[in-house]
Amino acid sequence: MSEPTVLRWRLPFAPVDGAGRPVVCPTCGVGERLVLGMDLDDHSDEPSYMTCPSGHSWLDERFTRKYGALFLADILDAEPGLLAHLDDLQREHGAA
Ligand SMILES: [Zn+2]
Repeated sequence: MSEPTVLRWRLPFAPVDGAGRPVVCPTCGVGERLVLGMDLDDHSDEPSYMTCPSGHSWLDERFTRKYGALFLADILDAEPGLLAHLDDLQREHGAA
């Protein structure tokens, strides 16, 4: 499966949806250390790719690609130097 993803980022928190329910892997039910695929240039309302620590991946409608792009933009705002190291980060935080 080819994913048009710029960066896969391990979420530093256990995500919840808009109603406060935990977001978990649909296969194994894990809700921590999930990885969110983010593309700075994709501001659509399509679901984002997520991956759990066991390597299951799915499209999660609770996280739109626009959310991912904004989240990534926030990260880069806080740490502008990261932009030069996206390739390294992708290796480091990439496929589990
Ligand atoms: Zn899983």
